[in-house]
Amino acid sequence: MAEITYDDDADLSIIQGKKVAIIGYGSQGHAHALNLKDSGVDVVVGLRPGSGSWEKAEKAGLEVKDVPEAVAEGDVVMILVPDQVQRFVYKDQIEPNLKPDAALFFAHGFNIRYGYITPGEGHDVCMVAPKGPGHKVRESFVQGIGTPDVVAVEQDASGQAWPLTLSYAKGIGGTRAGVITTTFTEETETDLFGEQAVLCGGVSHLIQAGFETLTEAGYQPEIAYFEVCHELKQIVDLINEGGITKQRWSCSDTAEYGDYVSGPRVIGPQVKEEMKGVLADIQDGSFARRFIADQDNGALEFKALRSEEEQHPIEKTGQALRKHFGWTQGDDDYTDGSAA
Ligand code: NAD
Ligand code: MG
Ligand code: MG
Ligand code: MG
Ligand code: MG
Repeated sequence: MAEITYDDDADLSIIQGKKVAIIGYGSQGHAHALNLKDSGVDVVVGLRPGSGSWEKAEKAGLEVKDVPEAVAEGDVVMILVPDQVQRFVYKDQIEPNLKPDAALFFAHGFNIRYGYITPGEGHDVCMVAPKGPGHKVRESFVQGIGTPDVVAVEQDASGQAWPLTLSYAKGIGGTRAGVITTTFTEETETDLFGEQAVLCGGVSHLIQAGFETLTEAGYQPEIAYFEVCHELKQIVDLINEGGITKQRWSCSDTAEYGDYVSGPRVIGPQVKEEMKGVLADIQDGSFARRFIADQDNGALEFKALRSEEEQHPIEKTGQALRKHFGWTQGDDDYTDGSAA
């Protein structure tokens, strides 16, 4: 059984006694900074001069400095810039300004697991990785619920890295929901696999394939959108509440029988074989190398894939429908930052 820590076993006063530098103010950065501040922690946000987020963070009542200055003040430095730029920001702006005993925190193990960042021996190296998008980490904190985290310590220089990690997790609301002990390796490999095979890659392409199958067969795209995309949220909510069993209980017997006989035809043994291949590429580092090589090449492949996928017909159909029905007014306006 996994080791799970809740509020009672984490001491908030530890992180309240530290200055925490949050580097980056994107999806995770804004949530960590604001949640910690609301938990009575002394926070400074580190940003690039001229960054669009500077004003946003100040308006939210946060102290903002450029990255080197914020790092120099931090007893705890949480790195929340995109994974592909962390090693540059670390080398140029973080490492030279770190206090000798500062603790380095990450919300994903990518750069440590694949060796892109190697912190000096004097630093605690810790992870508090929320299992949810940053905007949900903030929203759930405000609601008093919290988002679960996975936590890890790669390097315990102070001998106090674990209580510090749990204290940080409490500060962002994670221990309200429970935080699971892991390692940088397990978190990195399972996080990448989950998002590629199931949560992002798997689900997106399952929806697209379903939409294509129906519209190519002559059905109306709007109807197809409802059947293979819109209803997914309700289905996932049921799974989230009570597992796949609750979802099957709530659906009709017709749907449930179809699940048993047709589901395995769609997600057949070949899908699992491909999943094993995806996992192997994550474990041997080839996915990481491919991602970083493309990023270092101006993200040419990444940007081409993004614009190609944005042209998928379901995106247009969905945009028009969401506007028309108005159940998510304004939610198509996500251009100010990134989500997942
Ligand atoms: P993001 O893309 O939303 O935000 C990145 C921030 O860094 C922005 O404020 C951007 O302006 C800033 N930035 C970019 N380049 C910079 C530079 N060179 N110098 C200074 N600042 C720079 O990032 P994110 O999605 O919040 O991801 C941050 C970390 O959190 C990553 O390690 C990611 O894997 C992890 N994580 C993210 C999520 C999520 O929900 N997005 C969930 C769990 C873990
Ligand atoms: Mg991830
Ligand atoms: Mg139906
Ligand atoms: Mg049923
Ligand atoms: Mg993103």
